[in-house]
Amino acid sequence: MSNTNASLFERGQAVIPGGVNSPVRAFGSVGGTPYFVERADGPFVYDVEGRRYIDYVQSYGPSILGHAHPDVIAAIRDAATRGTSYGAPTENEVRIAEEMTSRVEGLEMMRLVSSGTEAAMSAIRLARGATGRSKILKFAGNYHGHTDSLLVAGGSGIAQQGLKGSEGVTAGAIEDTIVAPYNVVPEIDESIAVVCVEPIAANMGLVPPAPGFLEGLREACDAAGAMLLFDEVITGFRLCRGGAAEWFGVQPDVWCFGKVIGGGLPMGAYGASREIMSNVAPLGGVYQAGTLSGNPLATAAGLAALEHLTVEAYAALTERATRLQEGMQAAFDTAGVAAVLPRVGPLLGIFFTDTAPHDFDSAKAAADNGVYPRFFHGMLDRGIALAPGAYEAIFPSLAHGDEEIEATIAACAEVAATL
Ligand SMILES: *Cc1c(COP(=O)(O)O)cnc(C)c1O
Repeated sequence: MSNTNASLFERGQAVIPGGVNSPVRAFGSVGGTPYFVERADGPFVYDVEGRRYIDYVQSYGPSILGHAHPDVIAAIRDAATRGTSYGAPTENEVRIAEEMTSRVEGLEMMRLVSSGTEAAMSAIRLARGATGRSKILKFAGNYHGHTDSLLVAGGSGIAQQGLKGSEGVTAGAIEDTIVAPYNVVPEIDESIAVVCVEPIAANMGLVPPAPGFLEGLREACDAAGAMLLFDEVITGFRLCRGGAAEWFGVQPDVWCFGKVIGGGLPMGAYGASREIMSNVAPLGGVYQAGTLSGNPLATAAGLAALEHLTVEAYAALTERATRLQEGMQAAFDTAGVAAVLPRVGPLLGIFFTDTAPHDFDSAKAAADNGVYPRFFHGMLDRGIALAPGAYEAIFPSLAHGDEEIEATIAACAEVAATL
């Protein structure tokens, strides 16, 4: 008997918590049975039942060129034939660091790790080591991966499950974490090592920074001698070549990256100025390591992806996001459905409310009002795969052509009429 989504979900739930390896995938907040992917190609994913979906999950960002891009696949194939992991340095690790540091102003040195979580965790350790201070400040609704100290008031799946943080995190692990509301410059004193921020919040839906917010953080950090960390795991190499620092004209002290830079393979990175990165072992006393760090398949895939990410590519991605934004907004307006689609360049989000949220509380009110699950299933029934949760962004890729964008807007108009 051939597989169905339901049969795989049932088998999966017997041996994997929730049947999935990352909570959001279980469809808990939208209900129903997750589709199990059989393969993906360009803008499409195909499930095990042979259904095709226009995919706006795109692995939550990494597949910016679309799925199975021929150049990325060729690079991975070529790398794999030469071995899959060495535990010794390679040219491609140097090349990707050269490429990334050449694009991001102020980023002079970096380390490759295997996920965004690891990048954020390592960047925090670096900031604490370099400043000799303990406290970190994060913003409610921002997500920095699942490190203990950063899970409090996290966005993404934590928010979807209605959790304030996570069980299993000790009071000690979070006693040095201060949580502040997004888009308000908090008081920063000399006990704070680092202020962590998503320069565009993309894990509580999409919430752009208010004018002056990032500038205010920069000033407040400078005044207190604290470091400013931009978590660019989503925005990095998706927003524009140089990331949020280029877009907003505000430079952090420390960056972390992930998602896009691995070309769909597991990779993250953190970096800073040469001076700050000199605290990292073997140059300094901040230890960080990884058996699979700088993995040859991941660096090959990442380099192949970055090669396509030109100024023209970002313009093309922005054009797609803009058409989706305008087309879907018009569809909702026609149907009399209260909806806003915040957009910053190629980054797009959706909220079923009248006014765009500016922080976690307003984002939660909009995300949890019950409309998104109905919209999600209406779209899925029409062959459009959005993220199975209202706290995620919409990710068009460079493989989404006119036909897919038009089909998405047409489906949106049909669904809007039913809401
Ligand atoms: C996805 C994400 C992370 C965590 O990355 P993983 O690769 O899932 O560990 C961290 N920060 C932000 C902003 C993210 O969107």
